Amino acid sequence: MTGGGPGAGSLTVGVDIGGTKIAAGLVDEQGAVVRRTRRDTPGRTLAPRAVEDAIADAVQELLDAAGERAYPAVGIGAAGFVSSDRATVVFAPHLAWRDEPLRDALAGRLGVPVVVDNDANAAGWAEHRYGAGQGEPRLLLVTLGTGIGGALLLDGEVERGRWGLAGEFGHMQVVPEGHRCECGNRGCWEQYASGKALQREAREMLLAGSPYAAGLARWSEGDPGRVEGHHVTAAARDGDGAALDLIGDVGRWLGVGLANLAAALDPGRILVGGGVSQSGELLLRPTREAFARQLTGRGHRPLAPITATDLGTDAGLIGAAGLAREETMADREDGSD
Ligand SMILES: [Zn+2]
Repeated sequence: MTGGGPGAGSLTVGVDIGGTKIAAGLVDEQGAVVRRTRRDTPGRTLAPRAVEDAIADAVQELLDAAGERAYPAVGIGAAGFVSSDRATVVFAPHLAWRDEPLRDALAGRLGVPVVVDNDANAAGWAEHRYGAGQGEPRLLLVTLGTGIGGALLLDGEVERGRWGLAGEFGHMQVVPEGHRCECGNRGCWEQYASGKALQREAREMLLAGSPYAAGLARWSEGDPGRVEGHHVTAAARDGDGAALDLIGDVGRWLGVGLANLAAALDPGRILVGGGVSQSGELLLRPTREAFARQLTGRGHRPLAPITATDLGTDAGLIGAAGLAREETMADREDGSD
């Protein structure tokens, strides 16, 4: 904290770009979101420019709302692989971007510096700074949305890897010759532990005509293609047996993948966020059981606690705003020497 100087008392725009929605907010210096807005993410078949239009529109709305208090930088968390210089989204399985020069394209349109990071990195940073990961020197975060986002934070710093591409845990293969993934491979973890997995399994159960799926059928209105992951989550909370089974399956796959990650990374705490995590203990109980069952060296090592995130679906935009503020503040201080 500088306590004065550029940006004191100001509000920073943070944007979280996912496969289905763009969530943006004005974030104060304590990490609280004081205003929100959102847009639908234009489909993958549209030009990358369409996504930039939607982002720029949401950001401008918030900059106008902040007026004089707007901090002069914008943070973007994007559901994609971000290059090590953080200028380019090199690949985004759920978006139209391929080697997209997002940072400079947006900065040129908005007239302020833009800081880009992977959306899960931004969420992990926010949870470490303000949320459930405070004080943990070796924090692992996974977010279960359309796919799986991942981040590793070492002493509060995002571990980005040599080329900026660390943390793409969702594309570890867990099932040889398994379901085809949007990344082009088969059997990726996110095909089994994500909102997409819930949706696919619910639709398959309905297509099979199983009477067991009666509780899910009310969401389908006769068309299984209408059932989405959040319907399954809602039905599970109402105690529907089939929905509980499907959430449990996702939880078990989550636990298996987390045990693999623990074997490689030995984290001190694992946080689970994203839309699917709103199932709470319905998801996390089977996750912990599978994790404990699968963990290599089990019985002879501590079990890293697996808990929900604190900041919910705001974590990505809070982190994007915080990173933008922190990194441009450092640039300003360097520049003033
Ligand atoms: Zn994949």
